[in-house]
Amino acid sequence: MRNENIMQNNSYFLLAILLVLVGGCMQSPEQEGGTSGSSRSRPEYALVIHGGAGGIRKENMSPEQELAYTRALNEALDIGEAILQEGGTALDAVEQTIIHLEDSPLFNAGRGAVFTADSTNELDASIMDGRDRSAGAIGGVATVKNPIRAARAVMEQSPHVLLTGAGTEAFARSQNLAMVDPEYFRTERSWKALERAKARELGNGRLEPVPAGEKFGTVGCAALDRNGHLAAGTSTGGMTNKKWNRLGDSPIIGAGTYADDATCAVSCTGHGEYFIRFAVAHDLSALMAYKGLSVEEAGKHIIHDKLKQAGGAGGLIALDATGNVAMPFNTPGMYRGYARPGERNVALFGE
Ligand code: ASP
Repeated sequence: MRNENIMQNNSYFLLAILLVLVGGCMQSPEQEGGTSGSSRSRPEYALVIHGGAGGIRKENMSPEQELAYTRALNEALDIGEAILQEGGTALDAVEQTIIHLEDSPLFNAGRGAVFTADSTNELDASIMDGRDRSAGAIGGVATVKNPIRAARAVMEQSPHVLLTGAGTEAFARSQNLAMVDPEYFRTERSWKALERAKARELGNGRLEPVPAGEKFGTVGCAALDRNGHLAAGTSTGGMTNKKWNRLGDSPIIGAGTYADDATCAVSCTGHGEYFIRFAVAHDLSALMAYKGLSVEEAGKHIIHDKLKQAGGAGGLIALDATGNVAMPFNTPGMYRGYARPGERNVALFGE
């Protein structure tokens, strides 16, 4: 009798193992999600960037412009990749990659930031470390050359997470960060965008919705380093013609930026008010943690279902802890790219 029980138990055990094995074999890479499937092991490093989402269409861009954006994105990836290849931290890769994009006049971050309704530039940025979810952010600065540096200084050198306005400039000076004359941020492209926005203004004190033809242009980066740590950061000039010291999602942890080694690192771009209301960056992490979605499934659901239904235009770039990349957007295009060992992808337009 006892032997019969043992044999029965053994058969159940063997059947259970068989079922697990068969189940495992039947799961396709698509079900697992991720740009190249998550069945492979964690790459040595991974890096993904964006330079903003919006009405980016091939027919509206000259070959020279297309080349300039492609080159700037590749240069940014080169910088982050070199740091990660040498064993640098995800945090350093994110900061240095974003600094390069901030210094380029092509993007709406740092030099090239868009103008407020008062013809000034107010810059926002945030950064987050997936190791311990420490974070730093700044909003509405006008003289800090590289806002992402100030965000990192808030994280590492202050007891706070988010600083805004004049106090932030004083803090940045106390940290010996490079300061510039506000004129430094001015570009003809951003100035013309302000003139167009003013011409269109509804006159009721509300920000006119950004037409589909306009692009947003924020920059962001997510990285996975050799030690398996994730980090993410975002930097922006906000939205053209913004008023009343408006802040978007970019300096809001959980809206525009989020990083947690247990789930993902993510940076968002688009109509910030929607990204704040839908807590997009944290939602991505939560869908992965609580619902077991892949980074690709979670990103697609948020950008193409939730946000699109609500009228929120934009996109995000994200990485999970095994280097899977997601870059969903619901606008005509998004400046974007990623790098993994032996792999490089840069794209501007939708499919
Ligand atoms: N999300 C940014 C904001 O609302 C804009 C952008 O992504 O370009 O401030």
